[in-house]
Amino acid sequence: MLNDEWMKLALLEARKAEINNEVPVGAILINLQDSKIIEKSGNNMMSKSNPLAHAEIEIITKSLKNLKRKYLENTAIYVTLEPCMMCAAAISEARIKKVFFGAYDKKKGAYHNNDITNIKSYFKPEIYGGIMEKECSKIIRNFFKKIRLK
Ligand SMILES: [Zn+2]
Repeated sequence: MLNDEWMKLALLEARKAEINNEVPVGAILINLQDSKIIEKSGNNMMSKSNPLAHAEIEIITKSLKNLKRKYLENTAIYVTLEPCMMCAAAISEARIKKVFFGAYDKKKGAYHNNDITNIKSYFKPEIYGGIMEKECSKIIRNFFKKIRLK
C-alpha cells in the first residue's frame, strides 16, 4: 500500500477521536514484514482523563501487550500529526523503524524542533513528514476553530 493510503486509515482514527471530543489525532502501526496493521488508535486523553494518552503512546502500549514483545522492531507508525517530544522518545524506546507523519506541529513537534533522536543514545527511526499534509492539518485546524467559536 502507498503511504497516502496508510495515512488515510490514520485519518479515520483521527475522525473517530474527534467524535469522542478528543483532539483529532490518529495513528496506525504496520508490520513491515507482511504489511499488516498491528494496531490503530486515536487520542484518548479525554476518555481516560490522562494527558499522556496520545495516539502514539496508546498504540505502542497496546501493541507491546498484544504481541507480547519488548520492542516494536520492523514496524512503521503513521500518525496524522508530528509526534511531540514525549511520543518521539517513546517511538525511539520502542524501536519503531519508520515514522510517517502528516501535519507539522510548529509548536510541539519533536522532529523539526529539538529532535531528541539526535541524541546519540536514542534509537533513530527513519522520519518522513508531510504525508497527506493538507488533509491532516485541516482536521486539526477545524477542530480548534470550532473550540474557539464555542
Ligand atoms: Zn505526543
